Amino acid sequence: MTSSPAAGQLYIDGSFGPPQSGRTAPVADKSTGAVLGSYALGGAGDVDRAVAAARAAQPGWAALSAPERAAGLRRFAEYLQAHFDRLVVQSMRETGGVRAKALDEVSTGIRQLQISMIQATERAGDLLPPYKAGKLSMSRAVPIGVIGVITPWNYPVNLALRAVAPALAFGNTVVLKPAELTPVIGGQVLAEAADWAGLPPGVFNVVTGDGPEAGHALAEHPGVDLLDFTGSRAVGLAIAASAAATLRPIRLELGGSNAFLVLDDADVELAAGCAMVASLEFQGQTCISASRHIVTRAVADRYTDALVRRAAALRVGDPMTGEVELGPLIDERQRDRLHHDIVGASVALGAEVLTGGEYDGLFYRPTVLGKVTPDMPAFVEEVFGPVLPITVVEDEEEAVRLANGLPMLMDSVFTADLIRGLAVAERLEAGEVHVNDAHARHGADDQMAGFTKRQWIGVQRTPLDLPGWTADPAGRR
Ligand code: NAD
Repeated sequence: MTSSPAAGQLYIDGSFGPPQSGRTAPVADKSTGAVLGSYALGGAGDVDRAVAAARAAQPGWAALSAPERAAGLRRFAEYLQAHFDRLVVQSMRETGGVRAKALDEVSTGIRQLQISMIQATERAGDLLPPYKAGKLSMSRAVPIGVIGVITPWNYPVNLALRAVAPALAFGNTVVLKPAELTPVIGGQVLAEAADWAGLPPGVFNVVTGDGPEAGHALAEHPGVDLLDFTGSRAVGLAIAASAAATLRPIRLELGGSNAFLVLDDADVELAAGCAMVASLEFQGQTCISASRHIVTRAVADRYTDALVRRAAALRVGDPMTGEVELGPLIDERQRDRLHHDIVGASVALGAEVLTGGEYDGLFYRPTVLGKVTPDMPAFVEEVFGPVLPITVVEDEEEAVRLANGLPMLMDSVFTADLIRGLAVAERLEAGEVHVNDAHARHGADDQMAGFTKRQWIGVQRTPLDLPGWTADPAGRR
């Protein structure tokens, strides 16, 4: 990967080149600490150049036919497919995920491209019910212009492509700022793919760099017609506050504190098995990780025992060298936040470590925390690590009330009574609720957009839902 033309370079206007600062920073293998490559430290001047290139390229790109744009996306996908094995290894090293996570991430990214190219060639708008007899009403999918995309480090390939692919397919151009912890798999590789695919210069640009520099410059840039941001609530709030001052269009995908409800009649072994995925997949570092286990008293002891038994048996280590269920955390900052601000601070308030609570470097043992109350950081904050906080409640009412008290994306409820489960799901204010299941790979992520409380601003029409990045100027006339 270090021999790539993209290594340590920005990709602007169809060319790889150094940032104005002339500076680069190393990219680490999260398990070993070895240097995997480098990324360019782009800044405001580089973002200016990238946005100017994207603006200049956009009318020509939009003027191409949908099949012509789709052909570019197909070649983009072909490059990723041809380099699939290398990209899986790169993702494992750069994010610290196990092979299954990397396979899912890269293949989902490719699928985003494939679906977007089909959407763009098959759907151009809709006929709408006319407002009165004799009138014809229609909506037409048209590009917005230049889309700025800022992505996090946890699923850098598919979280970039879920915005980039529909944006390009519908005639927009893009400036991508990937997370600084995963700039190769989340940025340089995508620049290589676009270059190989022969996308016209300026259609897809990658400015690597740190959040407060390159990210801030892109988020604030007046030449960006829509900013698509996926990341933390704190940064999302700052972007939203600044965008509000000028009514700059933004779309945010943030984090939350997802609830995992275990009711009095639940199959606790089933629930505990699902909890291993819901809370521990990719070391709990996903936006849909179960962050709070809200358990009715009747089953609390049995559920706690089942969690502790399972969590204690899991293997933690370098995903490249061993059969492990958990790899390293992404960096020391996240580890220290987890260990001190979440676990330590909650223990100081009376929570109890039932297993885990220790680490070796970035390898954090799966941790079950008992006696967690709603005032503790382990309950209130997005845990974002391999920690399962258990809060005991008296009944279903209290469970639903506590669950709904915080922003969340995806909840689960466990009960032997399916009708009861569906009724509770109706009352939970998450974007998606699973009954007797967790966020296993259902593909149901396509249904989350737009149905949630406080995590999203704007609706990203996800692949099966069309129409990608479009405005609707024709409207109802
Ligand atoms: P983060 O907010 O720290 O960083 C995300 C991106 O924002 C990075 O590219 C970063 O460089 C950039 N950034 C940082 N400061 C910036 C600033 N001032 N201006 C503009 N850009 C800036 O988040 P993270 O730690 O990379 O990711 C973890 C968070 O992302 C979690 O909260 C998680 O729940 C959330 N997330 C949400 C989704 C979703 O679809 N809702 C998906 C994945 C992750």
